Formats: sequence, structure tokens, C-alpha cells
Amino acid sequence: MTALRDVAVVGAGAAGLHAAEALRRSGYDGRLTLIGAEPDPPYDRPPLSKQLLGGEWQADRLALRGPEALDELRLDLRLGVRAGRLDRRERTVHLSDGRRVRCEAVIVATGVRPRRLPGAETPRPGAHVLRTLADALALRDELRSGLRLLVVGGGLLGAEAAATAVGLGAEVTWLTSTATPLAAVLGTETAALLAGLHREHGVRLHRGLATGLLERRGRTAGVRLADGSELAADAVLMAVGSEPATE
Ligand SMILES: Cc1cc2nc3c(=O)[nH]c(=O)nc-3n(C[C@H](O)[C@H](O)[C@H](O)COP(=O)(O)OP(=O)(O)OC[C@H]3O[C@@H](n4cnc5c(N)ncnc54)[C@H](O)[C@@H]3O)c2cc1C
Repeated sequence: MTALRDVAVVGAGAAGLHAAEALRRSGYDGRLTLIGAEPDPPYDRPPLSKQLLGGEWQADRLALRGPEALDELRLDLRLGVRAGRLDRRERTVHLSDGRRVRCEAVIVATGVRPRRLPGAETPRPGAHVLRTLADALALRDELRSGLRLLVVGGGLLGAEAAATAVGLGAEVTWLTSTATPLAAVLGTETAALLAGLHREHGVRLHRGLATGLLERRGRTAGVRLADGSELAADAVLMAVGSEPATE
């Protein structure tokens, strides 16, 4: 460990932060560059779909470490830049701002990115994913009483977002591909209880498979289903899983 003088950590999420802290704790004293594509210092994602989306917390409460703790790590902190390429021969990480970071070792902690429905790869009004603080704030901005929100995806994220949105007065439809969402994770009995709770709180459960977004006048208008039918909505949250951001 002490032989290394130059380490770069790519990804300023929880894993990247903890990797940097572990290096310092174990006596690493060299240059430590933390590269993060998002503009924010490392923050906690779980509250995004709960307290932050629900408006109980503001963004400043999500920070995983305060400024002093980050200072103590003596980081060369590069936020808002993406590491685009690793040149292993030259031991260099190429950044999206045109700069390069020389390093003897790289820790890749780039996490995952959300999947989107076919045809919805580029951002469009009314079509949301929920992975970053910016995503959560964009969805929160839209949520209001009476908004018809369609949550696509029967996983934990979909369950949480549906619960939070209905609590804010939105008219929420939760589209899931299985009869009892989350049965594979929670077991049939608990999943049925959860589905019942959602219904009690006003979430409308709909079984089906979304194949793409509907658009009207440049805005998301719902989804198309595999059986040929359509579900209308003012906004759609695509909570359809994620894939590793390891390119
Ligand atoms: C809304 C939401 C709610 C959640 N709720 C829970 C919960 O209740 N309980 C629970 O246990 N878990 C929950 N999770 C999951 C938990 O947040 C993740 O397990 C955790 O974020 C993983 O941390 P990570 O550091 O590995 O990856 P990430 O948090 O994804 O961080 C990776 C970082 O790397 C950056 N990055 C990617 N590519 C590059 C690149 N090329 N260059 C520079 N930077 C890059 C990304 O922008 C990102 O900031 C939730 C997640 C979300 C989104």
C-alpha cells in the first residue's frame, strides 16, 4: 500500500467515498483523486425516493460527509466530470472536461444507471427515472395533487415512489408485470399485504408490460402495453431496474 503514490477513485457515490476513506485509514498517504460525474459531493440515495421526494427533507440533508470530513481526506475532488476512458498503458484516466488524471491504480466505483423504456433513452418532459438527486428533484417538481403519475416497474423503487407520490395527492397507477408485485423478494404473503396497503392508500395497481412511452404535443402522455392497450398519464416514472455503469 505505501508503495503507491497516486490513486484515482472513479465514482463519488457511497462506494467511492468509502474506498477513499479506507485507503486513508489504512495509511495511504499519496495523491487521492475522487472523480464523480454528478455535481454533488457524495450523498445518500435511499432518502431520494422517501424523505426527499416527499418534501420532508431538503437536499442538504443527504450529504454522506460534511465539508470538514471531506477535507480531512485530502482529496483531489473532481465533481461534475465523467471519466470517459482508462489508458492502462499510460496509466491515465481521461475526463469529460478534457483533462487527464495520472494514477498508478484506479478503483472503479461507478455503480449503476437506470434502465429506461424503449424509445425513452433521451430525456423528455414528463418521463422520469429516479437514481440521482437531480432525478428526484425533477420528479418532485412535477408531483402535485391530481397529477396522474404512472409508475412502471414492480420493484422496491416503484413501490416506494408510488407510496410517496400518493401521499402527496397524486393519482398513482402502479404498473407491474406480476400479479403480486415484490412476491419474489418479500414472499407472497408479505407482498400481498404490501399491495393491499398500497390499494388502501389509493394506489391503483395495474398488471401489464410497458413496451414504450406515449407522447402527445412533445410531452409524455402514458405508455403502450404489450397487449396493444394504452395507459394514459401526465407523467411516467420508469422504475424498471438498472444496469452496471462499467463502460
Ligand atoms: C431512489 C433510491 C432509493 C434507494 N433506497 C435504498 C434503500 O432503502 N436501502 C438500500 O439498501 N439501498 C437503497 N438504494 C440503493 C443504494 O442507494 C445503492 O446500493 C448505492 O447507491 C450504491 O452505491 P455505489 O457507490 O456503489 O453506486 P452509486 O450510488 O450509483 O454511485 C456511483 C457514482 O458513480 C458515478 N459515475 C458513474 N460513471 C462514472 C464515470 N464514468 N465517471 C465518473 N463518475 C461516474 C455516478 O454518477 C454515481 O454518482 C436506493 C437507491 C435509489 C436510487
